Amino acid sequence: MQAINGQIQGCYIGGEWIIPNKERLIEVKNPGDGSTLAFVPRGDKEEIDLAVNAAKKAFHSQEWKKFSPYNRGKILYQAAEIIRENREELAKLETLDVGKPLTQSAVDVEIAARYFEYYAGVADKIFGETIPVEPGIIDYTVREPIGIVGHIIPWNYPLQIASRSISVSIATGNAAVLKPAEDTPLTTLKLVELIEPLGLPKGIVNVVTGYGHEAGAALSGHPDINHITFTGSVETGKRVMESAAQNIVPVTLELGGKSPNIVFADCNEEQALKWVLKSIVQNSGQTCSAGSRLVIEKSIKENFIRKLAAAMEELSIGLGIDNHDLGPVLSKKQFDRIQSFIDLARKDGIRILTGGDRRLVEGCGLGYYFEPTILDNVPVSHYLAQEEIFGPVLTVTTFQTEEEAIEIANGTPYGLVAGVWTENVGIAHRVASQLQCGQVFINHYGAGGGIAQPFGGYKKSGFGREKGLEALQNYTQVKNVALKY
Ligand code: NAD
Repeated sequence: MQAINGQIQGCYIGGEWIIPNKERLIEVKNPGDGSTLAFVPRGDKEEIDLAVNAAKKAFHSQEWKKFSPYNRGKILYQAAEIIRENREELAKLETLDVGKPLTQSAVDVEIAARYFEYYAGVADKIFGETIPVEPGIIDYTVREPIGIVGHIIPWNYPLQIASRSISVSIATGNAAVLKPAEDTPLTTLKLVELIEPLGLPKGIVNVVTGYGHEAGAALSGHPDINHITFTGSVETGKRVMESAAQNIVPVTLELGGKSPNIVFADCNEEQALKWVLKSIVQNSGQTCSAGSRLVIEKSIKENFIRKLAAAMEELSIGLGIDNHDLGPVLSKKQFDRIQSFIDLARKDGIRILTGGDRRLVEGCGLGYYFEPTILDNVPVSHYLAQEEIFGPVLTVTTFQTEEEAIEIANGTPYGLVAGVWTENVGIAHRVASQLQCGQVFINHYGAGGGIAQPFGGYKKSGFGREKGLEALQNYTQVKNVALKY
């Protein structure tokens, strides 16, 4: 692969960089100003076939069968090291490709390295069990790799999610085919280039770039895939699940969210303000676990949102590479989607406390920047409080009792993450136990990348868990062996 600068990058299949057809390319743009960064192949069924076949060949090879768990772990440790050695280049590339501020990309790079480190340590600790059946029988289980794993990656955290996918696949002894999002494939390709010299058998990791309805659909419907991990929107998740059903293949679906920060009157206000703000403006709100709903006790609301609005108005907005607080949103398409929610708010007379408009940034005419926005008094049943906006837009809903807070928090089709802000341990645990979501943060939010903490949704936020030891369930299958003596 060559450096960016408008050049053509290849797909990575069976250990080779391939540009199948120079006439079929996708232009990758810098969301900051709309300039061209690179071109990648518009892979389709043919390239997915090649990649899946390469993965099959590698998975069944003697070379991979003889690769000890210890050696898989060693390679993963080396990958973490290489990522850190190239942290500046990776962070810059992620910022150019996704638009996010450079410091946020630097955090993504560190999290990427930590995924490799974490699963490096796990590779030789994937245990089975012995089961006491009856005298004269030794019964045990082995956790075997599941085989060829397809990973479909979204555009908002490409490096983190590609790292999470590749590291756990290698640790568990599988072969992987990745399909990055068409808008942001560059750090996935760079990552694979960096780990290429580490000595994995050719075909254990493959990357096919392309559109979702072409390469993505071909991957999720491929008859030789043994597991699909999909991270993306609910609508696409349904399609992926339908394809997997045709092949009786398990899927992990990491989908969207409409996560609440539930703020009680007795909270530590300074901390609550800091994290409520951070959790909605990070990556310009284009985060699955964004804290996109403020659910707040009525008695403290006015004062709290006034301070929040003031803090939002102080944030700088501009090119990610200049490290402003907020970068652009991904594209005009994303911008138009956010704008349509704001138009609805205006039409329905919802109070826009701050923001609500595009911000023009000098010299970045084709970049789409959106002001951090607060929509006040949004009833939980309103579309704005129900649907993922995927921009820096926070809705505010008040409660007067603990029961009401829980009802509002649980009152959407999603269930990914929630934050609870209170100094009362009893309230904190009672509320946490009743929230219908996969992860609850009490008095903090989304801390530290959470690579060791199982992550995934309830309800329409999906099922299956990534991260931590829990993810091993997706990537291994259990064999029971009974020996009579
Ligand atoms: P998306 O569903 O549009 O695309 C996700 C991926 O699926 C892309 O690689 C795309 O090319 C591919 N795809 C599209 N159509 C396909 C098809 N028919 N078959 C197979 N693949 C197809 O989502 P997006 O806009 O890239 O990402 C934003 C969404 O992802 C948000 O809803 C966000 O909440 C969610 N997300 C969830 C998590 C999580 O871990 N829960 C993390 C990041 C993003």
